[in-house]
Amino acid sequence: MLQVLDGLRPRPFEYYAPTTIEEALKLLEEKEDAKLLAGGQSLLALMKLRIISPPTLIDLNRIDGLRYIKEESDGWLAIGAMTIYDDVEQSQVVRRRYPLLWEAVYRLGDQQIRNRGTIGGGLVEADPSGNLPPVAVALRAQLVAMNKDGRRIIPAEEFFVDSFTTALEPNEILTEVRIPPWPERASGAYVKLSRREIDYPIVEVAVQLALGDGDDIKEIMVVLGAVASTPYRATAAEGMLMGKSFDEQLVAKAAEECVKDLEPPSDVQASSWYRKEVSKVIVKRAIVKAWKRAMEVEV
Ligand SMILES: Cc1cc2nc3c(=O)[nH]c(=O)nc-3n(C[C@H](O)[C@H](O)[C@H](O)COP(=O)(O)OP(=O)(O)OC[C@H]3O[C@@H](n4cnc5c(N)ncnc54)[C@H](O)[C@@H]3O)c2cc1C
Repeated sequence: MLQVLDGLRPRPFEYYAPTTIEEALKLLEEKEDAKLLAGGQSLLALMKLRIISPPTLIDLNRIDGLRYIKEESDGWLAIGAMTIYDDVEQSQVVRRRYPLLWEAVYRLGDQQIRNRGTIGGGLVEADPSGNLPPVAVALRAQLVAMNKDGRRIIPAEEFFVDSFTTALEPNEILTEVRIPPWPERASGAYVKLSRREIDYPIVEVAVQLALGDGDDIKEIMVVLGAVASTPYRATAAEGMLMGKSFDEQLVAKAAEECVKDLEPPSDVQASSWYRKEVSKVIVKRAIVKAWKRAMEVEV
């Protein structure tokens, strides 16, 4: 894609680089059809190809205080919207507490993308094949949106409305991603299938689960990406596994169940049939991986 973009130029636009969130929100209210610029990894490509031509760009990069990963005293993990993927990949807290988020970021694009792309941009882009949307849903993350009148919290499951469309209003900025504490014996896994390691997923799955006193599942989220316009929560598969003890055959049955109602798209990367078949394999892999990880968690 970068070679195709070489030499292409966007249409002229006004550029603002506010230094406070208040200033950015005021500009967003005032400037019609303005776009926010985060890492620019998706936005600038679309502008260079002239698929979109916003009259105004509001750059969020000079605003202090939007790039952080904080463990709060009540166990929530707060990640600023302008936190780059590489910060998340380097975070030991993320790696230990939410391995699925770490895996999704570690396996996102190449190092250049991870040095520029942001958590906020990756979520607001709402690409059906993006690595982050299924992970945010599986972790039951909450997304904090601000406008000039205050802030509101949007559960990740309600945030992704359609392909490349979120529940954010045009005058809102995503400022933070909040991940709730999961029970002590919890873990997760993210598995994707792509042509090459750095490519967008052909199919992907994010699993987060928590165990009861033994190896029985007491909470589970199984969320697929790249199979529908928004992250697809496999509730039937989750139901089959709730309360059950570790059993790989049962996981295989749940994975079969999980794709029954799926009608994934066909495109140049893969046919709908292939996506469905391969989903069974990666769902099983991800659940087994998450389950084994949770059994190993020391409390
Ligand atoms: C070669 C290449 C390969 C890639 N491979 C993958 C991949 O495998 N998996 C994957 O998931 N992604 C991939 N990406 C996309 C990458 O994840 C982008 O970084 C991401 O989609 C957008 O993040 P960004 O910070 O660059 O946002 P930008 O491109 O700056 O913005 C994206 C959109 O989000 C809006 N936005 C950004 N931040 C905010 C905010 N805080 N509040 C409100 N709106 C906001 C912008 O206005 C814009 O509409 C790839 C990109 C490239 C160029």
